[in-house]
Amino acid sequence: MFKHYVISFVVIAAFILAVCCYSPSGPITNLSAQTPEMFAVKVLLNESVTKISFNARGDYRVADPEKLTVINEIQKPDFITIVVDGNCIKAGFKKYNSRHLVFQPAVDTPFAINDNQQFHGNLELIVNPDNKTLMVINSLSLEDYLAGVVASEMPSYWETEALKAQAIAARTYVLYIKSKHGKNRPWDVKATQANQVYKGMRAETMRTNDAITATAGLVLNCQIENWDIFPTYYSSVCGGHTEDTVNVFGDEFFPLQGVDCPWCRYNTKPSLFYWPDAAFDKQTVNDNIFARYPSLRELGTINKIEPAKESKYAGGLSRIISVKLIGSTGKVGYLRGEDLRLAVDPTGAKIQSTICTIISMKDEFLFIAGKGFGHGVGMCQYGAREMARQGKTYKEILDFYYPGTRFKKLY
Ligand SMILES: [Zn+2]
Repeated sequence: MFKHYVISFVVIAAFILAVCCYSPSGPITNLSAQTPEMFAVKVLLNESVTKISFNARGDYRVADPEKLTVINEIQKPDFITIVVDGNCIKAGFKKYNSRHLVFQPAVDTPFAINDNQQFHGNLELIVNPDNKTLMVINSLSLEDYLAGVVASEMPSYWETEALKAQAIAARTYVLYIKSKHGKNRPWDVKATQANQVYKGMRAETMRTNDAITATAGLVLNCQIENWDIFPTYYSSVCGGHTEDTVNVFGDEFFPLQGVDCPWCRYNTKPSLFYWPDAAFDKQTVNDNIFARYPSLRELGTINKIEPAKESKYAGGLSRIISVKLIGSTGKVGYLRGEDLRLAVDPTGAKIQSTICTIISMKDEFLFIAGKGFGHGVGMCQYGAREMARQGKTYKEILDFYYPGTRFKKLY
């Protein structure tokens, strides 16, 4: 009899536990076991799509986070097309009276979208104000997110210590961006170079995952008021000196004032370290600049671009911080060097950096004598690799590129 009571008690306790754990109004993000929930990341995969296919490999739930309800308790594995239908979201044959849905596969069960891109975590869809398109967001644990970033931002065959440095820089950066901007929008970071390149599970490798695991929870702090995370920017090849962030991003942080980098020149292939001269016809330059900065149309036609401010470093190295645009109307305008570069050449594949000389010709602008690749702020990735090759640890690499910082283990 007593045994009976014990069994009944165990069954009831298990039931209560199951009911409590299954909280439809609770957190909607699946988190990998290692990462506390507060560090989950929402990645914007696409700002606007008319439809998306969703392929769950296992059971999944559908929730409306704004109504804090689970609409369909459990859905079976399925391959469905999701569209906007009459201001609501239609998934397969089901139409939900919601503008914001979260598709939650079981923990550790990836899902796929479109051409079989696989992701950890959840798929979030929000109807855009146009009532026709969907915003596509992948919400997932920080460490799972990093798995898709580190392997996208650094070749997986690079030295382990460089990969670890990359993991810590990427972790610190995303937490900073999330804390600064995440509250004001339904996502924390973009999946592109605008923040960090994130390709989901298709990018993952054992070596990069090992580097993430070996540094799990580790971030860099610098002294702001108290010790806190800061935007640990990084870029591909600094060209010889990293740049002060105030000159590129307009923010000020002690560890991001720039350091002399003797490392990247040793292992960067010449066409990346010294990039080929690039020519852009005047019309293209004008169109591209006006598309991004419409107020500059008052200049008429931009006929001349000259440096307004440059950083000067040893060895004749200088980076264009801002440019003066001289127009046919006689008016002048100014842009940050990095803004000009990405306006003229949004991929950054031709004008690889602002360490260059700009020559204004009659019909075109020439960008010559170029050096380096990327904005140049924070860790120089090729430099980090060279340091690792020469036996430096990830701590030494990060101390070098972000001087005056401390490590903190968040979890
Ligand atoms: Zn460098």
